Formats: sequence, structure tokens, C-alpha cells
Amino acid sequence: MTITTPEKSGQKVGKVYLVGAGPGDPGLITLRGKYLLERADVVVYDYLANKKLLRHVPESAEFIYVGKKGGGLHAFTQEGINELLVEYGKAGKMVVRLKGGDPFIFGRGAEEIEELVAANIPFEVVPGVTSATAAATYAGIPITHRQYTASVAFITGHEDPTKKKSNIHWDKLATGAGTLVIFMGIKNLPVITQKLIENGRDPKTPVAVVRWASTPEQHSVQGTLETITDVVREAGIKPPALIIVGEVVKLRNTIDWYEKRPLFGKKIVVTRTREQASELVALLEEHGADCLEYSTINIEPVDDYSILDRELENIDSCQWLIFTSLNAVTYFFKHLHNLDRDARSLAGAKVAVVGKATGEELLKYGIKADLVPEKFTGEGLAEALINVGVSGKRIVIPRALVARDVLPEMLKDAGADVVIAPVYQNVPPRGRKEQLREELAEQKIDMVTFTSSSTVTNFLTMVDAASEAELHTLLDNVKIAAIGPITSKTVEDSGLKVDVQPETYTISDMVDAIVDHYSKSKQLS
Ligand code: SAH
Repeated sequence: MTITTPEKSGQKVGKVYLVGAGPGDPGLITLRGKYLLERADVVVYDYLANKKLLRHVPESAEFIYVGKKGGGLHAFTQEGINELLVEYGKAGKMVVRLKGGDPFIFGRGAEEIEELVAANIPFEVVPGVTSATAAATYAGIPITHRQYTASVAFITGHEDPTKKKSNIHWDKLATGAGTLVIFMGIKNLPVITQKLIENGRDPKTPVAVVRWASTPEQHSVQGTLETITDVVREAGIKPPALIIVGEVVKLRNTIDWYEKRPLFGKKIVVTRTREQASELVALLEEHGADCLEYSTINIEPVDDYSILDRELENIDSCQWLIFTSLNAVTYFFKHLHNLDRDARSLAGAKVAVVGKATGEELLKYGIKADLVPEKFTGEGLAEALINVGVSGKRIVIPRALVARDVLPEMLKDAGADVVIAPVYQNVPPRGRKEQLREELAEQKIDMVTFTSSSTVTNFLTMVDAASEAELHTLLDNVKIAAIGPITSKTVEDSGLKVDVQPETYTISDMVDAIVDHYSKSKQLS
């Protein structure tokens, strides 16, 4: 690799940060780790570091995957990685070397540092939550407990225990520590358990094995020193996994919490706009779901704001401003700010919103909605306005370029003077289509969520089924959740069935309804 070295041109060298990524759950990185990711020029990351953490890194940064999977699939050798870090350090870069768990626990972190020291490159090490404690905790096992054990040993199981000159004193470890946490031990599990029993550990000692701990793929099994090898083989558990040996494993029966969350193991597609996906995803993940985010719509400004500009010039004649979506609020104010104006220029007009969330968004711009209907639909809003009296009133609706006409039509019929001012447009996103089709075809998806009719239409465009028969093959085993009756109708019009729809049409009610749905189906099974 050739990287221009500023050393030669007199520039200062960079710095390399060895950062513990934590065990998998992207919430388990340290604040320091996140701070450094946000400022990185280059990120060199591992197989075990969750890719979701890369979201914190500026898009302009360079991302280098150095692999390293058990079983010899090494994308880079350790020497190659060391060299890379030195080169980038010399080139004046701020490098984050992101390593699974803690960099100094079976992470070869020290070897990387030794090279940096030799090359005179400044460095820092940020500890991480090691998978040893996280796997135990996420499997409901406290690795210490006053009643059961006062000591823990972290051991590598990578080394063949039958090797003549082993560095691991199985004879002493077998009974020397209350809890044993064994890394990289799946392949050698039969010999490890045999060594422990031979050296005096009770064959009935409880053992848990946890694969992909703290991720949606977490899979844990339990047995004893005698049985665990068979249990692991039957469950098909492969690396990466940790083996936890000791009486504390029994506590799992009471403490197990992670895999018991109502949506654990469910793969749920979230179809929202890029900007709005986060609330739904966060709530679903809170309940344990594995969210696959497919933005079926990208929101963009419109090319022509002349209608809105004209109405803003004549704002005194406008009695009601109506916002029917979050995006309408966001893009309306974006444009207003572009004109060097703010909420004060709307002084006389009253404001109505379609629902709670839109009202909350509006509040961010200093405006409290004068009217929020009880039913959060266009019809509900029109009825509420008509009750207040709209005849002869000028009503401006900033909204999407293409949208349903029910609300303006109802208001017009009631005698209002309605102006529709497009402020944003929905455009289908590029790419990702193949991935979605593949995941559907492989039956990897449990549920798809829809939060508006346009997410349904855009999702169907993305699925791009050749026929209704193909659509059914792809989606008949997938549950569908829709936020409200209008969205449900769009789903049903396309020949599909809605399984979940909340009574109140908000994101959080939709999530509650999804949780209810799965809790009920669990009770039935
Ligand atoms: N530095 C890491 C360990 C790296 S060694 C840490 O502190 O966690 C790699 C081994 O760690 C894997 O073979 C596996 O035994 C264990 N491991 C890492 N992440 C894991 C996870 N999410 N679930 C289960 N085991 C994990």
C-alpha cells in the first residue's frame, strides 16, 4: 500500500486509537469510543465489531474491514493490520482501530500497540465491554455471586488442550476458580469439558454456551460439563460463542431477560423515510426486534415553491394553515428559513395538524396547534375544521406534491377557499431492491410495517413482483402491520392481508399493537 507520508513533507503524524467496540449491541460502546468514531479519518474494523457502529463515523472517512473470522478466513493477517495502522498513523490520520469487546482481552491489542510504539506513533486505548461479561449478562448469568463464587477466570479455548506444552493449567483452573469463561472454545469443547472433569470439576457443573451475545442473533443453550458438547452439537452452535462454566449458570432460570423480550428473534422491516425511521426502529428494538430498515421513500424538496411564496406574501388573508404530516412541517419551515423568515411571519393564521406527532414537531418551531382532531386522519381533520366553520375562509395546506385529495375536497365542499402548496415530494430510493427480494424469498422476514399509504406503494414497487402469485409467494408468510385504516386499505387493495393495526394511529400505539400480537401468538403456541 502506498499512502503519502506527511512526515516527509514536515506535517505531523496522526494518532491511532484502539477502541473497544463492545460485544455486539451497538449501545454498549463507551461514550469515549463514540466520540472518537465521530472524529475518525480512518476506521479499521473487525468481524466482531458491530457494523452498526459505523453510523457514528463521518461519511467522508475511510472504512477498512480487516475481517478475521474463526476458521482461517482472515481478510488481513495480524502483521498486515499492524502495518496498516502504522502507515495511516504516519500519514497524519486520526485512526480508530475498532475491536470487538475489549481490545486487551484476547484481542491482540498489545501486539498492535507494540508496532505503533516502535514506529513512534501516538496512540490511546479505550476499553470496551468484553463479551465475557456481556454474554453472561445477556444470557441471564451473573458471573459472580456471593452465594456461588468469588472468582472468575477468563480462558482461551483456542489452544488444543491435549498439546504437550500447554500454557493453560487446566489442572489448576478446573477447581481453582468458581466461574470459568472460555473464549474461542467451541471447536475444542469436547476436550475442554473432558479436561475439566478429569481434573476434578464435578461433571454435573452447569454450563451455558452463548453465541452472538447481545445481538438479535443471540442463541444460548444450557447443560452440564457432561452434556454440553451434545447440546451444542444438536443446537448447531458455531463460533463466535462463549462457554460459561459454574454454579452461577443456574441463576439463568430466574434472570434470563434478553431473549425473553416480546419481539426477540423477530425480523421486522421498517419502511419509512430515511429521516423518520428512527423512532419506530428505536421502539421496536426496545422490545427486542431486529429491524431491517428499508427506506421506501426518500423525501426531497420540490423544485417550485411559487405557490407557497405567493401565499406567504398574502398571509394576512389566510385563516388556517394545515399540516398533515411531519414532513410538511419540516419542509415548510425549511423554506421559510431559507426566505430569512420564521414563525412570527405567520402571526394571524390559525394552525391545524392531523395528529399528535405533527403537533409536537410544530412545537419545535414555536407554534402550538390550534386544532388537533380526535381522529388522526385527513377526514377526521376535515370534520373537525368543518365543525369550527370554514365557509368563505382561506385555507393553505403545505404538503407533498402528490397526496390524497380527501381533505381539500371536503373543505372545498364546505365552502372553503383551499390552496394546496407543495413543499416536499416523495421519490423512490435507489438500490437495495435485490436485497429485499432475497430476504423475502429466503423467508428471513417476520413482519413488514407500513406507516402510510405511500410506504405501501413504494414497498410494492421495490418488491417488484412479476405477478400476484409471486407477490403471495413472497409475502404470505410475512405479517403486515399498518398504522391506520387508510394504510390498511392500501395494503388490502393490493391483495394482501393486514395482521396488526392499532386503534390510535401513532407509531407508539402501532408498536404496542405489534407487541400484543406476538404476545398473543406466543400464548397460543
Ligand atoms: N476482545 C474480545 C474477544 C476477542 S476473541 C472481547 O473482549 O470480547 C474472540 C472470541 O470472543 C470469540 O471466538 C468468542 O468466543 C468471543 N466473543 C466475542 N464476541 C462475542 C459475542 N458477541 N458472543 C459470543 N462470543 C463472543
